[in-house]
Amino acid sequence: MAGKHVFYFGNGFAEGGRDDKQTLGGKGANLAEMTRIGVPVPPGFTISTDACRFYLREERYPPDLEQQVAAALERVEADTGKRFGGLENPLLLSVRSGAAISMPGMMDTILNLGLNDQTVEALARASNDERFAWDSYRRFVQMYSDVVLGVPASEFEERLEARKQERGVVEDTELEAVDLRALAHEFKSLVRERLGSPFPDDPQIQLWGAIEAVFRSWNVERAVAYRRVHGIPDYLGTAVNVQAMVYGNLGDDSGTGVAFTRNPSTGERKFFGEFLVNAQGEDVVAGIRTPLSIEEMEHRLPEAYRQLLEVQERLEQHYREMQDLEFTVERGTLYLLQTRTGKRTAAAAVRIAVEMVDEGLIDEREAVLRVDPKQLDQLLHPRLDPDAEVTVLATGLPASPGAASGIIAFHPDRAVELAANGEPVILVRSETSPDDFHGMVAARAVVTARGGMTSHAAVVARGMGKTCVVGASELHVRNGECRASGYTLREGEWITVDGTTGRVLLGKVPTVEPEPDEYFNRLMQWADSFRRLSVRTNADTPQDAQQAREFGAEGIGLCRTEHMFFNGERIQAVREMLLAETSDGRRKALAKILPMQREDFAGIFRAMDGLPVTIRLIDPPLHEFLPHNDAEVEQFADTAGISIDVVRRLIDRYREQNPMLGFRGVRLCVAYPEIIEMQVRAIFEAATQVAAEGVTVKPEVMVPLVADVAELARLRKAIEAIATQVLEEAGTEVPYLVGTMIELPRACLLAGDIATEADFFSFGTNDLTQTTFGISRDDAATFLPQYLDAGIFKDDPFQVLDRDGVGQLVQMGTWEGRRRRRDLKVGICGEHGGDPSSVEFCHETGLDYVSCSPFRVPIARLAAAHAALRTGGFVADRAQERVERAESGAAAHTLAARQRPEAGVSGD
Ligand code: PEP
Ligand code: MG
Repeated sequence: MAGKHVFYFGNGFAEGGRDDKQTLGGKGANLAEMTRIGVPVPPGFTISTDACRFYLREERYPPDLEQQVAAALERVEADTGKRFGGLENPLLLSVRSGAAISMPGMMDTILNLGLNDQTVEALARASNDERFAWDSYRRFVQMYSDVVLGVPASEFEERLEARKQERGVVEDTELEAVDLRALAHEFKSLVRERLGSPFPDDPQIQLWGAIEAVFRSWNVERAVAYRRVHGIPDYLGTAVNVQAMVYGNLGDDSGTGVAFTRNPSTGERKFFGEFLVNAQGEDVVAGIRTPLSIEEMEHRLPEAYRQLLEVQERLEQHYREMQDLEFTVERGTLYLLQTRTGKRTAAAAVRIAVEMVDEGLIDEREAVLRVDPKQLDQLLHPRLDPDAEVTVLATGLPASPGAASGIIAFHPDRAVELAANGEPVILVRSETSPDDFHGMVAARAVVTARGGMTSHAAVVARGMGKTCVVGASELHVRNGECRASGYTLREGEWITVDGTTGRVLLGKVPTVEPEPDEYFNRLMQWADSFRRLSVRTNADTPQDAQQAREFGAEGIGLCRTEHMFFNGERIQAVREMLLAETSDGRRKALAKILPMQREDFAGIFRAMDGLPVTIRLIDPPLHEFLPHNDAEVEQFADTAGISIDVVRRLIDRYREQNPMLGFRGVRLCVAYPEIIEMQVRAIFEAATQVAAEGVTVKPEVMVPLVADVAELARLRKAIEAIATQVLEEAGTEVPYLVGTMIELPRACLLAGDIATEADFFSFGTNDLTQTTFGISRDDAATFLPQYLDAGIFKDDPFQVLDRDGVGQLVQMGTWEGRRRRRDLKVGICGEHGGDPSSVEFCHETGLDYVSCSPFRVPIARLAAAHAALRTGGFVADRAQERVERAESGAAAHTLAARQRPEAGVSGD
C-alpha cells in the first residue's frame, strides 16, 4: 500500500486539520489544527489509521512507512534544534494512540522515549537537573517495559516501594537523583531477567517498538470491550502521534494541567481547570498530588496563564464548542498537548448550547443538535450524587430513570402500609404483575429480579415516572428476604435504586434533585419549532396526563384502561364479572365500575383540554385480574361469599399456556361485549359531561391486538352504536375517532384492509417486537443479555426499534394503510416512542406522532427535532413519495391489492 502515511505538524505548519479525524484520529487532527492556527504545540507527526489497519491486516508495516517516519523525525529535529539519540540536548518523544472516536485511557502512551544510559547524561546536562533526567529515565523504562515488552508495571512498583522504604521516605518526589539512577539500572536488570534479553538502548528500536505497540493496542481486550459498549466499529484502527516531549517538571517555572473552556458540570462561561507546579501530566491524572485551581496559576505562572487564557478563548471561538485542554508549561513557555470537545453534564450541555447562540457562535439548529436527547433524562429525574460512594448489590436493566432510596417491602400490601406511615418504600419483587399495581404506586422505586424492558413493572413504572430496575438477576428474593453480593436484606432495610444505570445499591445514597431551568425551556422551544412529528404521551391517570402536558405532550397516544381496574373495589367488581355466568350477571358487576371509570376519563379529558386522547379498550389476559396466592384466594372467597373451590375453578378456567398469545385484546372484546359496552359508555358519558363544562374533548377509541379487519369492523359497529346512543341521550355532539393498534405482523401485512375500518393506526411495538421475534417480552431478560454481550443483537429490540425487521413491518403497515386511506393518522405507542433512535425511524417513516411515558416526552421532542434537522424532512417526503408510487400501482407491496369491495370507509 503506497501512499502517504505520515503527517507532519510543527512550527505553524500542518499536513491536515480538524476534518481529518478518520485518517489522523481525533488527537492527531486537533494537534494539526492547533498548529495551523498558531497555537503553540510541540512539533511531531501522526501515523495514519490506514497504516494501523494495514499493519493489523498484513502483520507488517506499509512498505514506505519507515522512510516517511525517518523524514518526519528529521523535521522534528530541525524544528526543535535537538537530535533523537543525540549526546547533546537529546530529542525525546512521546508516542500516543488516538482513534477517530475518543476512547479515553483505552490504548497506550509512552513518554520520554529516546533515553538510554548515554542520552540520560546528556539530558541531565542540558536541563541542568540530574534528578529530573534520572526520574524521566526510570519512568520511561517502567512504562516501555510494561506497554511494549510486557513486564507488568507492578514489578517495578514493588522495587520503587522497596527503595522508598529503604530511604525512609513516603513520596516518590523525596527520592534523590542517586536513588533514581540506581532504580533505572535495577529496572533494566529486571527486564533482562524476565525476558532473557536486554532493554533496548537504541532509540530507533525503541521508537518502532512503541509504534507497533500502539497499533496492537487497538485489539487489546479492554479496547475491544470499550468499542462494544460504545458502538465504535472495530475496523477504524488507531493513529499514532509521535511528538517532541516538553516538561512540566523542570522547576517552579514549569507545570502542567487540564482545563475546560467552560464549567463542564454547570455550563457556566468561566475558564475552569486544575494544574500542578513542577509536575508531569501523569501526576495530575494519577491524583498523587492535589492540583491547584486554575486561578492560582495567575500568581504562580503569570505569563503562561495570560497566554493560556488567550489560547483557550481562541480555541473555543475557532471550534465554536467547549474545549477540554491539556497543557504544559516548560520553563515559562506554554504548550498545548491536546484539545477536544469537552464532556459535560446534561445541564451544562443545555446551558452551553443556549449561551453560544446568544454569543453568536452557533445558531438555534446547531444548539438543538448539540444536546443528546438521551442526556435529558438527567435533567428530569433526581440522580445519584456523583460524589457519593456506593456498594453495588446487583445490576439489572435501567427500566425507568432516576434515583431513589427507601426501605425494602417485598409485598405490595406492605408497601402500601409502610408508605401510609410516611416511610419511603422500595418495592422489591421477583417480578410484578398488574396485581402489584397499588404497591408500585405507593413505592418510590421498583426493583424486580426478572423481566425485560417492556415487562409489566418496566412499563408501569416508566408511565408513572417512577425509578425502576428490572431483571436484576443477582437478587434472590425468597421467603421475605433478599440475597445479593453476600448481603441478606430484610424488610425495612435501606437500599437505593439507580434507574439510570440499572444498579441496586446498599443503604441510603444521597441524591440530587432535577431542575429544568430557563436554558432548558428555551432549547425545547427551539426544538419544537424544528420538529415535524407530534409527541403524545402514554398516561392512565389525570395526574400523569397533567405531568405530561407540563412536559409538552400534545395529547394522549395511549391510555391503558385496565390499569384503572386494579385498585380496591374495582378489582373486586372485575372478579365478580368473571365469576358471572351470564351476560346480565356480568353487566351488573360492570355497572359498579362504570362511574369510577367515567370519573377517570373525565379527569383525563380535563387535563388534556383541547388535545386528542386515545383510550384503548381492555387488553390483558383475564387471569391477571384473578387472585395469585392462597391469601388472596381466601380473601376473595370471603368477600364474594363463595367457596374457595369455586374461586380455584375460576382460576383454572382462565389459566393459559401462553397468555400473551391467548385470550386478550380484541378477542376479549368479542367474547365479552359487556366489558366494552361499559368502557365505551364511560368514555362518552365522561366526554359529554366535561364538554358541558366547556372543555374541548377529542376522544379516540382504540382496539388492541387486531389481526383481521373483520374483528375491527365488528368492534367499530359496537363502539359507534354505544357512542351514538350516549351522545343522543345527552344531546351533545362530540367528534371522535375509532382506530386500532397495529401490533401483530398479520395486521401489518393486511394494513390496507384494516385501514378501511380505522380512522387511525397506533403501532404497539412492544407486542409487535414480541410477535415478530417470537421473544416473550416478559422472559427476554433471561437470555437477551447474552445475545447483547455476544454481539448477536446490537441493541435490545424492546428498547431500540429493530429497523430491519419490525421496522419493515411498521413501514409496510403505514404505507399500505395510507394507500387505502390517505387521511389515516399513524402513530406509535410502544415503549420505543421515547427512544431517540426509534423516534428518528418514526420521523423517517412519515408517522404523524410518537407517544411515550410522561417523563420521556421532552426526550422525544428533542429527538424528533434532531431527526427533522438531520434529514431536513426529505425522508418523510420520500415516504410520501413511496405512498404515491404505491397508489399508482408501481410499488412492490401488492398484498393490499386484495381489495375488499364492501369496505367503504376509505378516505380516497
Ligand atoms: C404495545 O404492545 O406496544 C403496547 C403499547 O401495548 P401494551 O404494552 O400495553 O401491550
Ligand atoms: Mg400491546
